[in-house]
Amino acid sequence: MAYINENFLNLKENYLFIDIAKKLKAYREANPGKELIRMGIGDVTRPLAPVVVEAMKKGAEEMGHQETFRGYEDSGKGYEFLREAVAGYYKNVIGAEVDPDEILISDGAKSDCGNIVDIFGSANKVLITDPAYPVYVDSNTMSGKEIIYASSNEGNGFAAMPDKDVDCDIIYLCSPNNPTGSVYTSAQLKEWVDYAISKGAIIIFDSAYEAFIRDKSLPRSIFTVEGARKCAIEICSLSKTAGFTGTRCGYTVIPKELTAKTADGKEVSVYKIWCRRQGSKFNGVSYPVQCAAAAVFTPEGQVQTHEAIDYYMENARIMSETCEELGLSYTGGKNSPYIWLKCPKGMSSWEFFDYLLNEIQVVGTPGEGFGPNGKGWFRLTAFGTKDNTVEAMNRLKKLLK
Ligand SMILES: *Cc1c(COP(=O)(O)O)cnc(C)c1O
Repeated sequence: MAYINENFLNLKENYLFIDIAKKLKAYREANPGKELIRMGIGDVTRPLAPVVVEAMKKGAEEMGHQETFRGYEDSGKGYEFLREAVAGYYKNVIGAEVDPDEILISDGAKSDCGNIVDIFGSANKVLITDPAYPVYVDSNTMSGKEIIYASSNEGNGFAAMPDKDVDCDIIYLCSPNNPTGSVYTSAQLKEWVDYAISKGAIIIFDSAYEAFIRDKSLPRSIFTVEGARKCAIEICSLSKTAGFTGTRCGYTVIPKELTAKTADGKEVSVYKIWCRRQGSKFNGVSYPVQCAAAAVFTPEGQVQTHEAIDYYMENARIMSETCEELGLSYTGGKNSPYIWLKCPKGMSSWEFFDYLLNEIQVVGTPGEGFGPNGKGWFRLTAFGTKDNTVEAMNRLKKLLK
């Protein structure tokens, strides 16, 4: 008899994107010929930068020759040329010192955010901000861990802060945030770091959108905050930074001195246990993709990949400006590709979804799909074309003015 891991039965069905697809299908059938503008896209749309494509081709070419062919990568941690490139980026662009050895190359942030739960015992109480990227809740549910929530809401600018009276062991933070676009300041992150240290907790910091930060005073890594090396893991990805959603490459940073405890109080290296886990279950990222990833961090690569980011951020600016003109409450848009707005006229997330679809053929994402605190809120993304963004915002202005 085979028995299922019953934790999987505790997963909440997420019908959000299925329900959206159903509504769109019904709308299209009833209104043939009406063009929909998709402002709910959670995926990048601009092509890879030319230097990145060249590097990937060169890597692929090398694989086809006896002298330069590569099989399994020895360490499984990522090629040194890429780990060095990421470390250089941390030093020169982000402003944090990270040893190349502490940088572990992955096939993206989703896998590492989800898999890292493996190395933490079932006794951990996991704190997740609400609303959140669904992976954090789902992967901890799959491993049967207790989850508690920290409320991100209008009152705190959708940037949940720690409560000293609440105990927890693992904390998920995402800044710039998906779905709310809010970004923690250094002072706020310092509060989280101090809180984590006081509880002996570990912060898992998702920095997938760090490259969208425009305001130089905002932290792009938790490792720019004093004390973070004692309590944090950072997970990042080239998906949004360089259009790698279909190419797959990310990196996780685990300080060598970070420890977690055994039940009898012994300190164990988190880095060592994670590498041991990866050594058994992961065989690295393909060589041509690592070549492409390294090209992102060259001066030319930085210039070229920023063109796409600038393109999205111009969309975000147009969207923020519209929200301001209309007097809508919103977060995001300034240092993130997401706009998180309060549905006007007291509408629920789904009422507003239907309203935009039926009246102006604009499609967004109902906020309640990201957690209870998303009720009455709505996510728009900057990943569309500029023409569509301008058109959608003009329609929105006509509709709500
Ligand atoms: C898109 C995204 C990621 C990146 O996932 P990949 O697996 O690297 O494509 C990670 N975290 C958040 C919050 C995201 O929105």
